[in-house]
Amino acid sequence: TDVTPPSARTNSKAAWQGIGGLADVLQEIRELVEIPLKRPDLLVKLGLEPPRGVLLVGPPGTGKTLTARVLAEELELNYIAINGPEVMSKYYGEAEARLRSIFEKATRSAPCLIFIDEIDSLAPDRSQVEGEVEKRLVAQLLGLMDGFAKTEGVLVLAATNRPDYLDPALRRPGRFDREVQFRVPDRDGRLEILTILTSAMPLETSVNLGAIADLAVGFVGADIKALCQKAAYIALRRQVPSLNSPVPENMTIVQQDFLEAIKEIKPSVLRDVAIEV
Ligand code: ATP
Repeated sequence: TDVTPPSARTNSKAAWQGIGGLADVLQEIRELVEIPLKRPDLLVKLGLEPPRGVLLVGPPGTGKTLTARVLAEELELNYIAINGPEVMSKYYGEAEARLRSIFEKATRSAPCLIFIDEIDSLAPDRSQVEGEVEKRLVAQLLGLMDGFAKTEGVLVLAATNRPDYLDPALRRPGRFDREVQFRVPDRDGRLEILTILTSAMPLETSVNLGAIADLAVGFVGADIKALCQKAAYIALRRQVPSLNSPVPENMTIVQQDFLEAIKEIKPSVLRDVAIEV
């Protein structure tokens, strides 16, 4: 797991603008991360403990990972991302050592943001799991969070779509005691996301993204991304007879391409929820 340094950016507004329909969430999360990392002295003055962990809660594909990455980028923080299920499957026996080394690396690379995706698989409710490794890992994570309580410049963001599976001790003060909710976007949110994701696409002027947003009920950001990709491929098949053909001069994506694509996509919220044990 490597530390990703903030890359040189050209326009500091650009990255935030790539996230649609979450203005209030971004405002909230930005404050939760920026103030403790950049101005812990202000919080101390107010007699507040800076947050060490923030839990991002919401359905899959609503932009939690995207937000964590953009946050690191925009606030010029080093960034370490890990994925709960991957740590468990790849490093099962050594997961504890693995976690410890990640926290050490982050401390050395402060200011640093650690992002733990699907944290529920690393820190399940101990009263509900059998495995000793799982129980030890939860304890380890709690210990690490407590241990770096006085370390400045490291903050842990963790994402879950199953907050009820988490060990309750994880959400006590000094650990993940702040929570931000990511919602399935409403119609205006879908339109914002569609506008962002199609901004580099050659849309025919008659394309009506509002009408597509109306139809895409229940779609999350990841579904909308799939929809845009599918529409683009339909447009490609329609206009490029063979892969040896040159790029057509006026290749465009039309409303019908989106309407065909949308028929093929089932919004995530309507898919069966896969429960791994
Ligand atoms: P998971 O819980 O499955 O990790 P997630 O909430 O972290 O899901 P992302 O991985 O951030 O979701 O979303 C997948 C992709 O969908 C993103 O890389 C982005 O392209 C697109 N996307 C999701 N939400 C948004 C959004 N609000 N605005 C723009 N694009 C989005």
